Amino acid sequence: MITNKTLKLSLKSLREFAKKRLPDQTLIELDARDECPLEIVHHMCSPDKLGIQLLFVPEEFGGMGGGAFDVYCVCEEMARIDLGVATAVLATFLGSDPITVGASPEQKKLWLGRIAEEGILFAYGATEPEAGSDLGALRTTAEPVSKDGRVVGYKITGNKQWISNGGIADAYTVLANTPGGPSWFIVEKGAKGFTHDKPEDKHGIRLSNTAALALDNVYVDLDRLIGGVEGQGLNQAQAVFGYTRLMVAAFGLGAGWAALDRAIPYSTKRIQAGAPLSEKQGYTHKLIVPHVARLEAARASIEETAERIDAGEGSLNTEGAIAKYMATEAGNLAADASIQALGGYGYTHEYIVEKIKRDVRITTIYEGTSEIMEMTISRDRWQLHLKTRGQHYHEQAKKFEALHASNPNVGADSAALALHALAEVMERSRVARLTRYQHILLRLGELIAYAECAGSLARRASALAENKLNEKANRRFDATALAAVSRIFAREAALKVAEDGLRWVIGAGGVSDAELATFETALGLPAIHRAQAGLISDMDYVADTLYSRAAKRKEVAA
Ligand SMILES: Cc1cc2nc3c(=O)[nH]c(=O)nc-3n(C[C@H](O)[C@H](O)[C@H](O)COP(=O)(O)OP(=O)(O)OC[C@H]3O[C@@H](n4cnc5c(N)ncnc54)[C@H](O)[C@@H]3O)c2cc1C
Repeated sequence: MITNKTLKLSLKSLREFAKKRLPDQTLIELDARDECPLEIVHHMCSPDKLGIQLLFVPEEFGGMGGGAFDVYCVCEEMARIDLGVATAVLATFLGSDPITVGASPEQKKLWLGRIAEEGILFAYGATEPEAGSDLGALRTTAEPVSKDGRVVGYKITGNKQWISNGGIADAYTVLANTPGGPSWFIVEKGAKGFTHDKPEDKHGIRLSNTAALALDNVYVDLDRLIGGVEGQGLNQAQAVFGYTRLMVAAFGLGAGWAALDRAIPYSTKRIQAGAPLSEKQGYTHKLIVPHVARLEAARASIEETAERIDAGEGSLNTEGAIAKYMATEAGNLAADASIQALGGYGYTHEYIVEKIKRDVRITTIYEGTSEIMEMTISRDRWQLHLKTRGQHYHEQAKKFEALHASNPNVGADSAALALHALAEVMERSRVARLTRYQHILLRLGELIAYAECAGSLARRASALAENKLNEKANRRFDATALAAVSRIFAREAALKVAEDGLRWVIGAGGVSDAELATFETALGLPAIHRAQAGLISDMDYVADTLYSRAAKRKEVAA
């Protein structure tokens, strides 16, 4: 267990190290040279230096035993520094996850021990040229090698594509087909027949090393088969999805905020039409505030999921998918808006936001694309909808109506409207058999993510107001401001679920002209429209908070 004090100290050392060793000019130069700063990555991972991996390795293997919440906090901080370096450092955790989940005690002791004691770097080799989103199409094979009628090792042959740390890792976890099914193997750098390609010339995260791997009859002993039993590979990969998706969610969150945190101070100094841009509502309410609301909704989903994983509720794949989907999509939008917020300067390398935008782009692709997240979310919640005969989201909505009764400030009423509307859209999709259209299934995934995040943020805002928030939780906003952020997002979610839902249901021929008025009423559209009242003043309040004007305005009013 990592205490809050230790976590905060580690984050502080990380920030101070980055300030010294990775100032903007260095980042710009490394990005231009397309160079992974290997010495810095090693420094961050070395146990006698920053030792970031110590945070994540279980205590019994020489680490500090951090949980999902700690991982989220570190990933967000790393992403704020540089997403390429973050990818290089965190690839070791991704790479060692199959070991953490599925290895034998001896394997864990050896490999997790080496990560903790030697700071070795790992890479995670799942993707192949023809097996990306569909890992079932895996072609790499691991052929058993027998001696005296007993399997003593394997010969691995195949190609891996887009592997983070592919050219710099000391050890690799490689997914390969055995006679018993897909299995993870540990392959060390320098093994005979094992080579990597030159680094990919990428759009972003150019401070990370990404390379293809080639395995030509690479022999490994039996003790390199993770867990010692064939055919566990996909289950082992599945078992950590909730956790690893949270890492990438935190990357999206950190990068999105890093961009906004450059746009916000910039706008206080940039004078146009006689006043700073920060004073212009058409600027803040388009380019800053909505992105803050979406990022904080995603944060709420990340924090809740991390807490639940740490409480032992399982791997929470769907919740991890919701968090990843919302945070990475929001991070991309925020970074894009930040370029706009800096105008022509935003379009140059010097101001960094264009680099952040290029970097954050990867987060909706790796560790499961956004479309795969939509599918994952939708399929799982569809089953819940069927199992509860359409009542799941109505039941959830009632909980938010109750929350609204006890705390009327946190947007729980709008979150409830979003969830009721979602239940209606899903039920209409069931009656009209609309999920036979893949597009409808995936759009439902998006609407589910919005509605659930509205709920998470309302709960989080309420917990903050009642002083019940996890001590490690982010406290950028006070309770009044977070409630306003929550109301803004919940209104957006309710409107999106109802209007997009209506659009797709009508678009797929799921409602006749005669039924339309009844369906619109069931969606609660008039109530959702009425709930938009107060939106602009909430946005004003959040803008005032972001620009530290809230206290001043209160003083003036008094
Ligand atoms: C910089 C970088 C680093 C990476 N690091 C690693 C790593 O360390 N280890 C590793 O194993 N992999 C890594 N990857 C691979 C990454 O996880 C894959 O690129 C990703 O899973 C998508 O696979 P793909 O590229 O083959 O795209 P595809 O699966 O071919 O997808 C292409 C597009 O089609 C969509 N799509 C796919 N299937 C469907 C479907 N059924 N229905 C609807 N739409 C669909 C996708 O969402 C996407 O938009 C990395 C990739 C990059 C670019």
